[in-house]
Amino acid sequence: MSDEIRRLDPKTVERIAAGEVVERPASVVKELVENSLDADASRIAVSVENGGIDGVRVADDGSGMDEEAVRRAVEEHTTSKITDVEDLERGVHTLGFRGEALHAIGAVSRLSITTRPRGEARGTELVVEGGDVERSKPAGCPEGTTVEVADLFYNVPARRKYLKRPATEADHVQRVVTGYALANPDVAVSFEADGRERFATPGRGDRRSAVMAVYGREVASAMVPIEGDASALPDGPLENVSGLVSHPETTRASREYCSAFVNGRYVTASAVREAIVDAYGTQLAPDRYPFAVVFLDVDPATVDVNVHPRKLEVRFADEAGAREQVRAAVERALLDEGLIRSGAPRG
Ligand code: ADP
Ligand code: MG
Repeated sequence: MSDEIRRLDPKTVERIAAGEVVERPASVVKELVENSLDADASRIAVSVENGGIDGVRVADDGSGMDEEAVRRAVEEHTTSKITDVEDLERGVHTLGFRGEALHAIGAVSRLSITTRPRGEARGTELVVEGGDVERSKPAGCPEGTTVEVADLFYNVPARRKYLKRPATEADHVQRVVTGYALANPDVAVSFEADGRERFATPGRGDRRSAVMAVYGREVASAMVPIEGDASALPDGPLENVSGLVSHPETTRASREYCSAFVNGRYVTASAVREAIVDAYGTQLAPDRYPFAVVFLDVDPATVDVNVHPRKLEVRFADEAGAREQVRAAVERALLDEGLIRSGAPRG
């Protein structure tokens, strides 16, 4: 190592920065699915090859982009979702806003986007390789947008080596797609790995049919609704808690089947999971976890959305308050259905 301090070349800077946004195939899928949802898609089809390491494809029937828009979209810090920091203060209502994802993905893969705006006669195909636009040409394609990401980290070998086995990466992707499928029952979401369909939700709008498609009939029929009656909640930072939770006997050994969403955004909140488990008291066998899909509504102006794109963990300023609200809402759902006895000691 020499003591000389030098400026990194732009390509190196770009790849390092991209690694902050894109960690693994699941983070690519998360960004692309969020873009499809922001584009008002009613159908989103996700498929991966070799756990997404060789290929990720997300096709939607959303608003699409014209040629100029798609060229802009892959540049650095370009977004159609906010204009200035005041928009952030007012609270962001889209899942994305940082304008980083497509640029970052394009910097560390071979990226192709085919897109046609609704009502336009023709579409565009744009190909980016390692951050450079290789071509952009008119293309016949359905309305909406299809993004294909091949050879993730082909130009960042250190990063590629760090990826897990394809089966593990595919599971991570499935978890993300499952989360968005459950959070958006009005959108038909499908997931395919190496040509095999893992699930497809009908997009009919009801949560139970989405749960059935994702977890199967048996689990879906063992789930009871958390009624979204805000007035019955204890005081705390949450405006409402709703969703579905399973019968105390329908459990798994993994806590991964407890999913939480804050304003429709899939999060991992360990406090929320603990609160769900707490609500079952002693009815839950040790080291068993229920199926739960819990939606938390908070005032968008009170949560810091300016979080790092890769960070799924949310924190509430009043963590204890939020926790008690979730526990109380889940407990009430279970009590109403006679699935737990009141006064069960907390375990
Ligand atoms: P962000 O989502 O933070 O705005 P992205 O890099 O993910 O940044 O996307 C950049 C822009 O490209 C978006 O603001 C949007 O205008 C456009 N875009 C991306 N994906 C889609 C899509 N699937 N359908 C329509 N427009 C899209
Ligand atoms: Mg985005």
